[in-house]
Amino acid sequence: DADLLRVRNLSTRFFTEEGQVNAVEDVSFTVREGEVFGVVGESGSGKSVTALSVLDLVESPGRVTQGEIWYRNADLADTFADEGSNVVDGEFVNVLELPEGTRRSLRGPSFSMIFQDPMSSLNPSVTVGEQIAEAVEVQRRARANPRSTRSRTQGYGLGSLLVDSIVPDREYVSDESYERAVELLDQVGIPDAAERADEYPHQFSGGMLQRAMVAQALAGEPDLLVADEPTTALDVTIQAQILELLRDLQEEENMSVMLITHNLGVIARMCDRVGVMYAGEIVERGTLEDVFEDHVHPYTEGLLGSVPDLEEPAPRLQPIEGNVPSLLDEEMGDRCYFADRCPHAMEDCLSHPEERDVDGEHSARCVLVDREYDESDALPDDYF
Ligand code: SF4
Ligand code: MG
Repeated sequence: DADLLRVRNLSTRFFTEEGQVNAVEDVSFTVREGEVFGVVGESGSGKSVTALSVLDLVESPGRVTQGEIWYRNADLADTFADEGSNVVDGEFVNVLELPEGTRRSLRGPSFSMIFQDPMSSLNPSVTVGEQIAEAVEVQRRARANPRSTRSRTQGYGLGSLLVDSIVPDREYVSDESYERAVELLDQVGIPDAAERADEYPHQFSGGMLQRAMVAQALAGEPDLLVADEPTTALDVTIQAQILELLRDLQEEENMSVMLITHNLGVIARMCDRVGVMYAGEIVERGTLEDVFEDHVHPYTEGLLGSVPDLEEPAPRLQPIEGNVPSLLDEEMGDRCYFADRCPHAMEDCLSHPEERDVDGEHSARCVLVDREYDESDALPDDYF
């Protein structure tokens, strides 16, 4: 399939009182049309910040400091055709170089997101049907005019930001949008959708709320749906149902999904390709088979633990001895960020490894791509 999103050398930093935090460091990956791209890693590895960076939702004191986010959209490429090669390349536009208003208008119709906690994305004082209808309406208007700046769309349909945004105004929502909202609720498997649309979020169960949030995220018919730990708060049966729903929708709509999780079972079941994150970097990426069966990076090996088997992956990340680094710039140093936990750390690992091609699209940030582990080069046990 064709590429939808090409993220290149993306870095996001937070400028805090303790110092500069390198939350996302030189990350590159591609999401194709109609695929599920998984991002897996421990908490604090930069998975969520990577997603927020793609969605242009990083908040101060954080900022995307480097990189390109190429998004295939022929209409936008046409609209900005005269802006130069850092903005337009064929059918792709570099999202980070688009005007603020246009970037904002991508959220919903182009990129949408679902979060772990549905209650943070739904306004408790507005009926479920009305808020989804509002999302439909706003996104219809945004699609009609991609160059304009619309304050009403700010953060709409994007989780916690929704609560802070405007209270839907009945007159703003057309009957057509309300009907579409009911259709969406039906599509995500809410029984008696027309009646349930009239209820408030607190009248919904956890699983039904999660479905409503998916409906809200689909309101703009997004090309890319980002799901950040979408099932972590749910019990196992409901988790399985929501994942199945996402997989079905992704197939029906040929939508791309970027799925963020710390759960390797979810990755094995849902994803076509995977990026493994550690300390703000993607340390290995490739197809499911590349990562589960032919991994090169010792961190990937550690994650998979004692069950490096696609059939029966470890359900949770295996603890790896040692601590995740702080990501404070002044403490990061030049060596491989995994070196102090790596059983194969050698002299070579003291200069920061570049991303290296393994084969095809399989790549890893590790010297072992190019050489074997050699005990005579090993760093002494007390090195760190
Ligand atoms: Fe281990 Fe060296 Fe590879 Fe880093 S570069 S993961 S220290 S072998
Ligand atoms: Mg997270």
